[in-house]
Amino acid sequence: MKYYRCQDEDCGKILEERELFKLPNGTLKCSRCRGKVVDTGVEEADLKNLFGVITKAAKDHGEDSEPDHEVGDLQEALRTAIELLPTQQKIDLYIKLKEKELIPA
Ligand SMILES: [Zn+2]
Repeated sequence: MKYYRCQDEDCGKILEERELFKLPNGTLKCSRCRGKVVDTGVEEADLKNLFGVITKAAKDHGEDSEPDHEVGDLQEALRTAIELLPTQQKIDLYIKLKEKELIPA
C-alpha cells in the first residue's frame, strides 16, 4: 500500500490509496478537500519496519564511512522523531524512557 499527501496547504492530509477520491477520468484527489495529491514514496512495508529501516541505514553508513556516522545518524533520527511528536506523546515517551531506565529517575 502507498501513501499520498494532499498538496492543499490548508489540508496536507496523508491518505492511504483506498481513501483517495477518484475522478471519472482516473485523476486521484484528496477525499477531504478534493485537492491535488502526490505519492509520498512511502510504502506500508517501510512503516511496519521503520526501526529496522533507520537502524540498517545508519549501520550501512557507518560501515561505508566512519563508525561514528552510525551513532550520528541514529541521534539525528531520534531528534527528528522527537521534533514531530506532539506534547502529549513527548510526555509519554519521557515516562516510558524513565521506566526503561534510559533516563535517570
Ligand atoms: Zn486535502
